[in-house]
Amino acid sequence: MYRYFLKENLKINQHTCQFLTERSFYLRLLTMESFRFLCHPEILAGDGAVSLLPEKVKALGGRKVLLVADPFLARTGKLKKIQQHLSSCQIQVVTYDSVTGEPTTEQGDACGQLGREENCNLVVGIGGGSVLDTAKAAAILITNGGSVKDYQGLNKVPEPGLPTIMVPTTAGTGSEVTFTAVFVRKQLQKKAGINSPFLYPTVAILDAELTLSLPPAITSTTGLDALCHAVESYLSRKANFLTEIISCQAANLIWKNLPVAFREGSNIAVRRNMLYGSFLAGLGLANAGVTAVHAISYPLGGIFGMAHGLANGLLLPYVLEFNLPAVVEKLGSLAKQLEPGWQELSLEKAALSFVEGIKNLLKEFHFPGLKQVGVCPEIFPRLAEEALKVSVPIQNNPRDITASDIVHIYESCWQ
Ligand code: NAD
Repeated sequence: MYRYFLKENLKINQHTCQFLTERSFYLRLLTMESFRFLCHPEILAGDGAVSLLPEKVKALGGRKVLLVADPFLARTGKLKKIQQHLSSCQIQVVTYDSVTGEPTTEQGDACGQLGREENCNLVVGIGGGSVLDTAKAAAILITNGGSVKDYQGLNKVPEPGLPTIMVPTTAGTGSEVTFTAVFVRKQLQKKAGINSPFLYPTVAILDAELTLSLPPAITSTTGLDALCHAVESYLSRKANFLTEIISCQAANLIWKNLPVAFREGSNIAVRRNMLYGSFLAGLGLANAGVTAVHAISYPLGGIFGMAHGLANGLLLPYVLEFNLPAVVEKLGSLAKQLEPGWQELSLEKAALSFVEGIKNLLKEFHFPGLKQVGVCPEIFPRLAEEALKVSVPIQNNPRDITASDIVHIYESCWQ
């Protein structure tokens, strides 16, 4: 199903078709540097696909499931339905549904402890990125013991976790396909990820029906997060020919569908394109990484609790402006594929039009500037220092960036 989905979606993009014509494909293979590409979860995609959950739990040997669920599911009654469906298939269910946005290490620990005490042998996460990350962390805490804090960083998880099934209900983070789970350390006012191959989900279920209830404000912030993943992984120093195809198609799906999803939330075709776009962007990011947008946004989440997608979206056009000297051709060629009206422009003008297009999108979505969310310019040097410590995205950025460049970017977002 996953292969079918990739084939069907990749073939609609002209640029991708160029890559996939046999001649250019082999030419590219002959000239490219070597690379590694990882894609772990089995993907089940389709409207209503969440109904396959009990079958998948059973196939993975699940007897007692830790169900980590978004609080919105409980409010709508959907959670009850999912619990009943699992129970009717003789699967025991232990539910943890108190995850808040931008989860803290304490929340991750509490969820893991519940799963350990209840002897759960499989973890299911249904919700936005905050829930999926909590579920992914719980799965490794149940088998490894310890606390989220012990594993924040790169490759610090000693043993595999329980099998996991991830069901995203936002079209934003791509957490269903990444090896990361992000938590806020309240005392340090820092956001940091657990990054380990043991965090790759076992199965991801992409069911666009679950995203129909997203209100416009969350549609726009989460959608911009997905656009950041697509564009950043496309421009990353770690991008390779395969991630470029994937990130480009992700950007295409998100750029064309996000404004419509914002206005017409009940349009299932648009929601489906957004969910698949977000998934592809996650696949791009899992392999090519993200860049300075994410590094500069982390301190805004850690210190001010700003929603991840809001902070990323706000920064995206200004980081792209900064990166322009290093990526004008690459960004211009991406832009030309996104808007037919930009195809006749020079690469530089197409790139600039894309940056302006993102700024217009932020206005349409009523994104507040940093000033409106209470961030004072006096703190910019401290934020910049913290951003530079988010080392991998900083290294991936296509142009070297300094603390004073970052302060300038924060200033641009302040109005
Ligand atoms: P979120 O999970 O915090 O959800 C935002 C809000 O939307 C919540 O109130 C939630 O209850 C609500 N919601 C979720 N689905 C809904 C639906 N279908 N209908 C109505 N309301 C719904 O937001 P997010 O942007 O998906 O996740 C953000 C988190 O993910 C951050 O902590 C961020 O750091 C992390 N993240 C992780 C990765 C990764 O690879 N693991 C990547 C990017 C971001």
